[in-house]
Amino acid sequence: MTEIQEDFAAKLDRLAEIAVRIGVNVQAGQELIVNAPVEAVELIRGVARHAYRAGAKAVSVNFGDQVLSRIAVDEGRDEIFDYAPGWRFDGVERALKEGAAVLNVLGADPNLMAGADSGRIARGQKAHAIAARGIQALTGGFAVSWSIVPFAHQAWARAVFPDLDSDTAVRALWDAIFAATRTDGEDAVGNWKDHAARLHERTEILNGKRYEALHFRGPGTDLKVGLIEGHEWAGGAVNTTAGVRCLPNIPTEEVFCMPHRDRVEGFVRATKPLSYAGALIESISVKFEGGRIVNASASSGEEVFKNLIATDEGASRLGEVALVPHASPISKSGLLFYNTLFDENAASHIAVGRALGINAPGGALEKAVGANDSLVHVDWMIGSGEMDVDGVLSGGEVEAVMREGAFV
Ligand code: ZN
Repeated sequence: MTEIQEDFAAKLDRLAEIAVRIGVNVQAGQELIVNAPVEAVELIRGVARHAYRAGAKAVSVNFGDQVLSRIAVDEGRDEIFDYAPGWRFDGVERALKEGAAVLNVLGADPNLMAGADSGRIARGQKAHAIAARGIQALTGGFAVSWSIVPFAHQAWARAVFPDLDSDTAVRALWDAIFAATRTDGEDAVGNWKDHAARLHERTEILNGKRYEALHFRGPGTDLKVGLIEGHEWAGGAVNTTAGVRCLPNIPTEEVFCMPHRDRVEGFVRATKPLSYAGALIESISVKFEGGRIVNASASSGEEVFKNLIATDEGASRLGEVALVPHASPISKSGLLFYNTLFDENAASHIAVGRALGINAPGGALEKAVGANDSLVHVDWMIGSGEMDVDGVLSGGEVEAVMREGAFV
């Protein structure tokens, strides 16, 4: 191996180690399920090595190829898009109920569905979300430990670095991934423990404030997001109901909370494009009344966005609000990743759809407290270096939380 190859192999191995030890935190005697694109096999072999060293009893990998989804949308008969192969979801759900952990490896082509039939995509997304409800309940409630890690897929790299040739683009994206996932230095495990502690400290400060609402102000944005009573800010590591500490998103820079499903008012403009279901949705602009989106537009992908928020009643309401400093390492890279795992950690954001149990008092998602429910949960970015955020206290007084994208 050349020196460059050796350096790459060492960093890839550290990413695998972080995924296993910090991300899902595999326990002795536990099964690990991995969902990954077929191109990620080298990373997955590293994951398996670290998982077996940690005592895993099995590493079961579901390899997939996203191009197959495009082939289905282009070639399939129109009646097939309300179907999802339930047996595959049932198998994973059974393994999770028996105590397995799950690792999702993400490396998507943001242009996968360019020009494809958006109605078919929306129906396919919904059918899969319905089939995944059981899995979703287990992961969303942290009954099991799970995590998501990135993989520098060639099609993704070409979208992030359109001016570079394929190989150079993939290397550049890996460099960006290693920096963002804190795996470019020697002590990656130690770095993650420090980082998780800092995020936890931020959630403690915000939890002490008991804000009734957050008020976002910036170009094209004047948005009041009411928070549910008894809300819990979360960020970084999470304890599963079995008491295992996992870290669901790698990278992660956000602290997030639960909006009240009926108490969001005003208008907001997205500050980055949203890559969703293989389509790129740009310049989203929406208006909220009584918690519901009453008006939505986008300069491209508008139909995909409108289909998304029409999925069900809760899809046009918020399930998450998150604060991310504009000076986060991912944001400082200046890159647009066209991938929510990265872009949501470069900017404050909101998510339409399902609320997260971790933000509810006692973890219970109840409509009475203002928790939103939906088949979908999709984050999109509204923060920037021009965004101010105020916290509204229960007496109505207002204090600065962020100024020009930085925590006060
Ligand atoms: Zn988020």
